[in-house]
Amino acid sequence: MQELKYLSAYSDQTRAQVSRLIEQNKLGEVLRQRYSGMHGIRTDRALYDYVQDLKGEFLRNADPINKVAFDSKIHVINHALGLHTSISRVQGSKLKAKHEIRVASMFKEVPLEFLRMIAVHELAHVKEKQHDKAFYKLCTYMEPNYHQYEFDLRLYLTELDLTGQRPW
Ligand SMILES: [Zn+2]
Repeated sequence: MQELKYLSAYSDQTRAQVSRLIEQNKLGEVLRQRYSGMHGIRTDRALYDYVQDLKGEFLRNADPINKVAFDSKIHVINHALGLHTSISRVQGSKLKAKHEIRVASMFKEVPLEFLRMIAVHELAHVKEKQHDKAFYKLCTYMEPNYHQYEFDLRLYLTELDLTGQRPW
């Protein structure tokens, strides 16, 4: 069986299924059937607007997001798919948090569903710091297919590593 480093958290059964798809050279095809193509969000400005729209829809009352940007220094495998930083500043007598969301640049060239997954993930961190039950509950509230999209993103990264080619 392949190493499948992006899928280490999944069951042996799931990993065996993915291994079979790879052996049959069908992983790219499976991804193409599920996702029609890449999104067109290319700039930090467009990403900012996209994330703010999501926040307006689901987390209106959470702390404001001050900055949103693609970041070429974030490597996806480092567990953190994106990077959320929160800096607390004392303003007068009030402690005010400043939130920044950085998304790995590789998310420029993926289907919109994968970008949505990472945006939802980083937005959830505005309210929940840890990757705990409350965190994932918030993620699936914002995107019911959150876990499927994350799994498929991991399939995509696996395919990219193996073939060096994007399915779309
Ligand atoms: Zn996280």
